[in-house]
Amino acid sequence: MAEFDVDLFVIGGGSGGVRAARIAANYGAKVMVAEEYRMGGTCVIRGCVPKKLFVIGSHVHQEIEDAAGFGWSIGQVSFDWATLVANKDKEIARLEGAYTSNVEKSGARIVKTRAVLEDAHTVRLATGEKVTAKYILIATGGAPNHGPAVPGIEHVISSNEAFHLKELPKRIVIQGGGYIALEFAGIFAGFGSDVTVVYRGDNILRGFDEDVRKHVRTEMEKRGITIITGCTVAKVDKHGKDYTTRLSNGSSIASDQVMFAIGRHPNVRGLGLEAAGVAINPANGGIQVDGWSKTSVDNIYAVGDVTHRTNLTPVAIREGHTFADTVFGKRPVQVDHATIPTAVFSQPEVGTVGLTEEEARAQYSHVDIYKADFRPIKATMSGRDTRVLMKLVVDGASDRVLGCHIVGDAAAEITQVVAIAVKMKATKADFDATVALHPTASEELVTMRTPTSRHVRQAAE
Ligand code: FAD
Ligand code: NDP
Repeated sequence: MAEFDVDLFVIGGGSGGVRAARIAANYGAKVMVAEEYRMGGTCVIRGCVPKKLFVIGSHVHQEIEDAAGFGWSIGQVSFDWATLVANKDKEIARLEGAYTSNVEKSGARIVKTRAVLEDAHTVRLATGEKVTAKYILIATGGAPNHGPAVPGIEHVISSNEAFHLKELPKRIVIQGGGYIALEFAGIFAGFGSDVTVVYRGDNILRGFDEDVRKHVRTEMEKRGITIITGCTVAKVDKHGKDYTTRLSNGSSIASDQVMFAIGRHPNVRGLGLEAAGVAINPANGGIQVDGWSKTSVDNIYAVGDVTHRTNLTPVAIREGHTFADTVFGKRPVQVDHATIPTAVFSQPEVGTVGLTEEEARAQYSHVDIYKADFRPIKATMSGRDTRVLMKLVVDGASDRVLGCHIVGDAAAEITQVVAIAVKMKATKADFDATVALHPTASEELVTMRTPTSRHVRQAAE
């Protein structure tokens, strides 16, 4: 008789868990996956995919406005939120089905229930059933932070609810200055809502390149989004269907919805980590793992947002895949967390890979900056007041391109491809040797010949 019921028990059917389960099953392992909500996890059900569908839908508004300069007269247009939500739900249900069948096709078994650790080799299902496993993978993801319990917090929605609102809010207040706040600000503004972003710091997108932060803010403001910095939401009052958001600076804003997008926390609560001896990383509250995604317990691994490393879908997938290769495929491989490209699907979009100017100047003695800030060709006829930013951060000593930062249409698509060159340690000379593709915005990346600034750090005496 087998020592364990299964070779691998995966807790969580999201990006990381699903990939690990499928690859481990392909290697011949007996795999069980527990999912307490919907297969596909955050990205598919209430993250990347529905968000991107909303971004695409809301951007149509701008396309319609821009069309006039090209001779189109479109006439009366209208938008129906209920249709958008229903069609999005249909697509998400289709994807959920595809995730389910792909896991099942690989030979892994799905149990639609919550699972928690009983000890290092036993998982307890909400049904009361216990399953023993040689290896356990924790891939439980994360959930929205509600932040400090300000009075009226019960009226505040997170991104989870934003995908299912009954009506498009005419006015919305969004607290936060990161990915989700800016993406939803663009979505709601595109559909016609009056949007106010409230951010506690001096400028949005902390951690991004300073030029990117300034450029995005200016462009969002040009599109009619109000951005209030240096303050927080202190209280939310409800009167009938309306809300009054009181800010720490004493002012208040009336709206139909109030949303917080102030970060996410790893799903570790009530998981039985103590019972199994799995340690938490005190620095970030996620499950502590080594370079192999192994926890403090030899046969228990953790991948994705629950480890609070780089909370992006492709990273969770890569971590899940390498875990399965290492443990079940006899192909030990670690994830390289350096130089991961990322995009904020704000409007305009941000794409970034590698070091910011500030990071490069702290790490390298010679840093050359190449920057282009220009009016895109489309704006010349649409008349839209908008500019694109392209920036390369280069090591002045070795000529290696350390970072690339783009704000503008297709920034994410361009950055995905530039990331290959940056990952390959391409030099500025390699970029220059590449013939431009004309007329594009991204040709700027291979035609910026003269640094806009050079920074040389004096050696300490
Ligand atoms: P998840 O996908 O969260 O999966 C975890 C699963 O575990 C969930 O389905 C959950 O129900 C289940 N679960 C939890 N506890 C238990 C339990 N005890 N028993 C059983 N099941 C359990 N990333 C990008 O790269 N690009 C984007 O554009 C992007 N947009 C985003 C937009 C939003 C609004 C949000 C919220 C996130 C976005 N992300 C994006 C981040 C991305 O969604 C996550 O990084 C990714 O989903 C993490 O995958 P995961 O496998 O770690 O966890
Ligand atoms: P972010 O970490 O991106 O942003 C959180 C924002 O909330 C920051 O501006 C932060 O300010 C602010 N904040 C944090 N705590 C408080 C508080 N107590 N009061 C007021 N403001 C606060 O998190 P998000 O929630 O936007 O997204 C979570 C994660 O999901 C992202 O970091 C990313 O990893 C992933 N994601 C990725 C997307 C993509 O790839 N396109 C899209 C959406 C999410 P400060 O900067 O000052 O700390």
